[in-house]
Amino acid sequence: MNIILMGPPGAGKGTQAGMLARRFSIPHVSTGDMFRKAIKQGTEMGLKAKAFMDAGQLVTDEVTIGIVAERLGADDCAEGFLLDGFPRTILQAEALGGIMANLGRKLDAVVNIDVPNEALFGRMTGRRICRQCGATYHIAFNPPAQAGECDRCQGELYQRSDDTEATVSNRLQVYARQTEPLVTYYREQGLLKTIDGSQELNRVFADICQGLES
Ligand code: ADP
Ligand code: ADP
Ligand code: ZN
Repeated sequence: MNIILMGPPGAGKGTQAGMLARRFSIPHVSTGDMFRKAIKQGTEMGLKAKAFMDAGQLVTDEVTIGIVAERLGADDCAEGFLLDGFPRTILQAEALGGIMANLGRKLDAVVNIDVPNEALFGRMTGRRICRQCGATYHIAFNPPAQAGECDRCQGELYQRSDDTEATVSNRLQVYARQTEPLVTYYREQGLLKTIDGSQELNRVFADICQGLES
């Protein structure tokens, strides 16, 4: 199964991708996670990406397409993958089409997680991530059992540097301008499945699973 998870920042892509990856045993491929890993490792690519991310802007198409092409060609993606946060521009979507054609594969579905803007702000500013395993929490909507500590690995929870109020509003504008046109792009290809992402996260998960089966 080759699936894209789309939606504005804070819609719940990462959360749902994690749940779907476990359910279907396919890798969760998140460009945001790959960039954060590169930053942590202090690579040259990470350094370049960090400036864009902290400003709430997109990393260049060239860099982003390069890392995705390499990742999707890896052995563990042979049975399928869940793309989270890619593509984010029409150019990236077209490049993905080329990557898939080269691999002799086809997209099965594009899941569009729809959440009104008013809800996104609080979702992002309340988001916390595990420093060790990358699991995502929310201080109010999905809190860990022990404040500040990951349920799965006891790692320390931190707030992403781009989840501050100033950056969040930029990211919402960037989404509307550069990424939202992809909704029409994939609808025209007959791949789009829109899910009500404002529901409780287990309901969202159930709706996505049902959407993928139909
Ligand atoms: P994205 O990857 O789309 O930016 P995340 O999965 O990181 O979104 O979710 C953003 C924040 O909202 C996280 O703190 C997460 O715990 C929380 N969240 C995810 N899904 C829901 C939901 N259905 N209802 C409430 N909060 C949610
Ligand atoms: P969110 O889950 O809130 O949507 P991500 O973790 O997907 O955030 O992305 C964080 C940041 O990483 C983005 O704001 C952007 O700077 C960069 N990024 C992630 N994916 C892409 C992409 N496909 N193209 C360009 N930049 C990206
Ligand atoms: Zn953890």
